[in-house]
Amino acid sequence: MAAPQAVRGTRDLIGEDQRRHQHVVDTARRIAAAYGFDEWSTPIFEATTVFSRSLGDTSDVVTKEMYTFEDRGGESVTLRPEGTAGVCRALIGNGLTQSLPQKVFYAGPMFRYERPQKGRYRQFHQIGLELIGPSEPLADAEVIACGWAILQALGVAGATVLELNTLGDKPSREAYRAALVAFFDAHRGALSADSLARLERNPLRILDSKDEGDRRLVADAPTIAPYLSEAAATFYTQLQAHLRHFGVPFRENPRIVRGLDYYGHTAFEFVTDALGAQGTVMGGGRYDGLVEEMGGPATPAVGWAAGVERLAMLLPEAPSAPAGIAIIPVGEASEAAAVGVLQALRTAGLRAEMAYRGNLKRRMERANRTGARAAVILGEAEVASGVAQVKDLASGAQSTVPLADLVAHLSP
Ligand code: ATP
Ligand code: MG
Repeated sequence: MAAPQAVRGTRDLIGEDQRRHQHVVDTARRIAAAYGFDEWSTPIFEATTVFSRSLGDTSDVVTKEMYTFEDRGGESVTLRPEGTAGVCRALIGNGLTQSLPQKVFYAGPMFRYERPQKGRYRQFHQIGLELIGPSEPLADAEVIACGWAILQALGVAGATVLELNTLGDKPSREAYRAALVAFFDAHRGALSADSLARLERNPLRILDSKDEGDRRLVADAPTIAPYLSEAAATFYTQLQAHLRHFGVPFRENPRIVRGLDYYGHTAFEFVTDALGAQGTVMGGGRYDGLVEEMGGPATPAVGWAAGVERLAMLLPEAPSAPAGIAIIPVGEASEAAAVGVLQALRTAGLRAEMAYRGNLKRRMERANRTGARAAVILGEAEVASGVAQVKDLASGAQSTVPLADLVAHLSP
């Protein structure tokens, strides 16, 4: 029988891959906490309506990418393709719309049926923030500043650029939408089939198309600036001022829209040219209408999500493997004492390991091969006199250390 394979578009995280991944998530969690965000964990599957209602039935995610199935009870459930809808469902379901603001950080797997390629998987991972409650542009700036701080802490900020846009308020967007429809309608012949469908339902999303022909056309399409209401223009100006106060550099890009239908005002992406076609590492914006759309009270909100795999690939250096201490008994009679030493070191929080068999030479080879930082050698003579030979495997220096002093001697 052929051995089973991982499902297409899924990956195992082992060794360096797992360390890179973990470093991204740990760093994001730490920085988000400093910005006052609390972590939420929501289920990785939800009733299908949580996504179909919130993401809008014209989005690529809903029309083509969702993993949806009927469970054994006949309920339609969907593996979450993104984090925002579940957080809003949880906000409403837990009665938290009365306790605002809520500042939420999340991390975990997401699922989209896409064509797998470098930086694009069917199970991938996101970190994300949602700041729910405030309608002030200061909130948008804070959310972006926290994202920027995470990229800086990861050492990848220099490889990315923040591209910023506004999608205006409803009146601005309606006027802009009409202008876009007129423009694209006059160039129907040049539009991809997908974008022709978007033309009827959500022409703004043509700006986000990845089709080459569409992109050439989009370059000449009208921008939103002349259609912005005074209120929307003011919001955008204030956002930019706040970003300067937070020290976050940005570049305006009038083509940035979000893939989902519920965004207004702020839209942004951190992009890189270091990852080929999969250049967006973090994307987000303001989604004031979503909580109400999902059955809660009208509640402003702003947030972003970032792809952990893409950030992990951008890390300048792989986090190093943990270096432990190898405990090496010489002769069977020393094994019992060696186990005692092993446990004493572990109890003190030091990473210590002992092989299950082998002579001194084999065990030393193994210690070197696995990158141990020190070897603690216990022969019968050492055990009898309550000491150990400690060899620093980086310098090669060796010394005799009383067992009672081992923890202090080996603590970093
Ligand atoms: P893209 O334009 O690359 O398809 P998107 O607009 O669909 O991205 P979002 O829904 O905004 O992406 O998700 C936020 C981030 O999650 C993306 O910027 C990206 O870093 C990451 N991401 C999205 N889809 C995938 C995927 N299939 N595999 C890996 N990472 C992904
Ligand atoms: Mg996508």
